[in-house]
Amino acid sequence: MSFHLSGSIVQNFKVRFPRLSSRFRIKALAAGTAAVVLAAFAPVSAHAGAPKAPRASVALTFDDLPGIVLKPEQGYVDETNEKLLERLHHYHFPAIGFVNEGKLDEIVRERQIANLERWIKAGHDLGNHTFSHGSPNALGAEGYIADIARGERVIRPMMEKAHRRLQWFRHPYLETGSPAAVKDRIDAWLTAHGYRIAPVTIDCDDWEFAEPYDEAVMTGNKAQAERIRNVYLAYTERTIGWYRKGARVLFGRDISYVMLLHDTRLNADSLDGLAAIFKRQNMKPVALDKAMRDPAYKTPDGYQGKDGIEWLERWSLALHKDLPWNEYEEVPKPISEEYNKLDNR
Ligand SMILES: [Zn+2]
Repeated sequence: MSFHLSGSIVQNFKVRFPRLSSRFRIKALAAGTAAVVLAAFAPVSAHAGAPKAPRASVALTFDDLPGIVLKPEQGYVDETNEKLLERLHHYHFPAIGFVNEGKLDEIVRERQIANLERWIKAGHDLGNHTFSHGSPNALGAEGYIADIARGERVIRPMMEKAHRRLQWFRHPYLETGSPAAVKDRIDAWLTAHGYRIAPVTIDCDDWEFAEPYDEAVMTGNKAQAERIRNVYLAYTERTIGWYRKGARVLFGRDISYVMLLHDTRLNADSLDGLAAIFKRQNMKPVALDKAMRDPAYKTPDGYQGKDGIEWLERWSLALHKDLPWNEYEEVPKPISEEYNKLDNR
């Protein structure tokens, strides 16, 4: 899946509708029925007496720091980071935030930098997510590499000051470069500069829920905000189940997962619900480097196409094993329709 940021201030804070990649279309075709969509509105409930899920660990990774919001309001961004970090602290969840330094000058630079410092002060790592959230498909290898280098001017000294090493890189849109020569050039640059690629093995498309959620919060529509949160959490719990099933198809076991989330008000306000899901699903949040010790992450990523696909899909190609696409459920229609409406405005 992929989405775009473009030039203006407001648009830089908006995710735009994803281009439908071929794999995305496979997912769309496997989208849930009306019954599944309606079920998304049912409250989440633990199944009393249901057998306990096997234990698994999950690294929580938040993209697009210092925050991705519908409208560039600094107070809203500050509150979002404060609340998210307070809830992570409450649950003792480690996390990593992937930064787009291009966002620093889009609202109030000092306050945006203060938000990044909040993450470090809370004990979380920061990673590089490029300066401008660009695509290697648009920028080419050299342009993309320049965008990565430009994306560490603030966070590298910030991490060093805290005696930490900047080492993680997350590709925007999960696009890793195409054809192979472009991907290889980018990979070689990352390695030569001490970066490790942060893959994604759980992706619940939280960004698509986040914009309708901002709209509800910013217009004071509490009932709508609560409804979106409930739909998001129910969908996320089912989708986590799908990824765990996918891992069992590929590896015959749960792996240590790396979950893609975004630095949004939706996630700040949903963290209690996410914590409840991890508890019900017997999943323990761990630091990214710990999750990455799972040997599954040594599986080669031979994917050389343009699509932004997550790593279970990449490995399914390398291992010649099909993921359970017939069971994959698309984001509930009311959410994607609301998202499209806001995006067209
Ligand atoms: Zn991003």
